[in-house]
Amino acid sequence: RAKEDGRNTYHFYDDSLDKANDDKFKLLQLLRLALTEQQFRLYYQPQIALGSGQITAVEALLRWPQADGSMISPDQFIPLAESSGLICELGSWVLRQACQHCALLRRQGFAELRVAVNLSVIQFKDGLLPGTVHAALQQAELPAEALELELTESLLADDTEHILLQLDTLSQLGVTIAIDDFGTGYSNLSYLRRFNASTLKIDRSFISTEEQWQANAPLVQAIIQMAVSLGLNTIAEGIESADAIRKLQALGCNEGQGFYWSPAVPIEQLPALFTALQLSAQASPATSNTNL
Ligand code: C2E
Ligand code: MG
Ligand code: MG
Ligand code: MG
Repeated sequence: RAKEDGRNTYHFYDDSLDKANDDKFKLLQLLRLALTEQQFRLYYQPQIALGSGQITAVEALLRWPQADGSMISPDQFIPLAESSGLICELGSWVLRQACQHCALLRRQGFAELRVAVNLSVIQFKDGLLPGTVHAALQQAELPAEALELELTESLLADDTEHILLQLDTLSQLGVTIAIDDFGTGYSNLSYLRRFNASTLKIDRSFISTEEQWQANAPLVQAIIQMAVSLGLNTIAEGIESADAIRKLQALGCNEGQGFYWSPAVPIEQLPALFTALQLSAQASPATSNTNL
């Protein structure tokens, strides 16, 4: 009651805030509808071993196609899905779909392919996540080793014990854990190990453009060195040039992902993309260090 009164009072003072809440409410209704009508799509972006040029995995990225052919980016709807709690249902769908797609691709001959799925911290709230992951793997008949879960460092700020317990359970299943956007958050290093992470994904804001690289090369170097000494795998995000590949490889980075190879594409396009990437890897392997 008091809340309602408060909101009514607000109305007189701040129309724009009310309007924003109204828009949010409408968007949330649309999100709910999109979920029940199965409007969401998963697109996949390859992750490439810098040494061999081989495709190791694909990252599942949510897409929301609109009637006019445009696409709403996850950055625009994930925050609302999180604050409304809808992310749990949406996230479960993502897990099931990504596991099924990965299993399908493995049956089609990409036998070693893995899939990376982004998780929101909200998905850890109810404690059901390990069960959801287990069920998704079983239904798809996908071995746990084929699944990597991407978490951001913001997770560390939250209800840590509750989350760490679930991460332990997930690790015991055989699922691997990657820290996404590494270097942009608090980078609570002492927790890195308790996280049971096996991979650090270096944030693309250090890497994509030449200016970003110039400003951040020492930081990237430090992250890779730290990852090596902790025995962690490194994936650089946002690789857009051959130059970036060479620099990252020289620093000892293991894998890369970015528009240089491909943006995220629908699953139907992956076999042809894999073939094209494999051919270009053979023609000019990333291992050719002639420029170093
Ligand atoms: P992220 O997990 O860090 O994903 C990488 C983002 O970088 C993707 O944006 C990808 O399209 C973009 N990207 C890839 N290569 C390049 C490049 O070379 N240059 C540049 N400039 N960008 C590149 P996208 O698909 O818009 O996703 C944005 C974020 O939304 C993701 O960041 C992730 O945090 C979140 N997200 C996406 N799908 C899901 C999901 O299923 N669940 C959750 N919880 N979050 C998701
Ligand atoms: Mg990610
Ligand atoms: Mg990222
Ligand atoms: Mg992100």
